[in-house]
Amino acid sequence: RPSTASSNKDETVRVVVRCRPISDREQDANCERVIDIDVKRRQVSVRRPRNDLRESERNEPHNFFFDAVYDWNSKQTDVYEETVRTLVDSVLNGFNGTIFAYGQTGTGKTFTMEGVRSVKELRGIIPNSFEHIFDSIAHSTSRQYLVRASYLEIYNENIRDLLAKDQSQRLELKERPDTGIYVKDLCSFVTKNIQEIEHAMSTGNKNRSTGATNMNEHSSRSHAIFMITIECCETGADGKPHIRVGKLNLVDLAGSERQAKTGSTGDRFKEATKINLSLSVLGNVISSLVDGNPHIPYRDSKLTRLLQDSLGGNSKTIMIATIGPVDYNYEESLTTLRYANRAK
Ligand code: ADP
Ligand code: MG
Repeated sequence: RPSTASSNKDETVRVVVRCRPISDREQDANCERVIDIDVKRRQVSVRRPRNDLRESERNEPHNFFFDAVYDWNSKQTDVYEETVRTLVDSVLNGFNGTIFAYGQTGTGKTFTMEGVRSVKELRGIIPNSFEHIFDSIAHSTSRQYLVRASYLEIYNENIRDLLAKDQSQRLELKERPDTGIYVKDLCSFVTKNIQEIEHAMSTGNKNRSTGATNMNEHSSRSHAIFMITIECCETGADGKPHIRVGKLNLVDLAGSERQAKTGSTGDRFKEATKINLSLSVLGNVISSLVDGNPHIPYRDSKLTRLLQDSLGGNSKTIMIATIGPVDYNYEESLTTLRYANRAK
């Protein structure tokens, strides 16, 4: 694997890093920025916080290179146009694709995936992909499309359908020789336009928060997966209809922070172990794919089993690792960058 910057748009796995702006609270508390980003060189550097240094110690930064890096000035459309658009185009052409937001809670996963939907410039990857998909369908003359949406959550290794009427149901993963892994009884809604698919998204978000006593805590401990299936029918050169199916998985992962640190015990501890486990399995799966290992450990977690047919093979994967810019995030930022670096 080359350790230098490389950006090949055809690569099956792309790993990018985004660092959010310093918040007002961090500004007021005079936090030190410890992240430097060189967008052109696609480099992220992490410096040890000054108050953490012994006098004689030299502060050699840790440098990392990725397929792209986004600093605090990056716009939502920069991420979409440079990193996401080609993947969604390939889903429109019948391939599978998965986009993960990975990082510590509070670093911008949800901002990057969903953003602020009421403000056009602040819309994230999910609403931008809705617009992209329905725009290209509207402009296509030779193809017919069918778009379906599902929305689910994995919490504590349980799968919950966020679009189901009955929110107390837990769904099971099943396997069939012909179609592979699927979630039994998962709702899937045909959506004919942006309004309909946005409605699916907000219904799911409402259901997600209703069950949670503390939404921030809940979202930091669960994975949310918005799935879009695009069926495309085109008359081939043989005069017969050809159907292709592409699947787009948009995943807002559980927070990557070390859960055990919060001093959890009992059920909480079991839960924490599961979150850490599923994120480390994901890391193992992606790095096995990148390394070309014959054995990919999909089966080791619900998340990777569920996404098995959209990770590897002809599928494209984007991992967006999000980090915070200041001193108190130093250790977690390093951990996130090391995780992302392994996935390259
Ligand atoms: P996470 O989902 O990783 O817990 P959030 O997406 O909720 O983090 O982001 C935490 C806070 O930081 C939110 O207030 C969000 O609006 C803000 N934020 C995150 N990323 C950015 C960004 N790139 N630009 C501006 N604000 C951001
Ligand atoms: Mg979030």
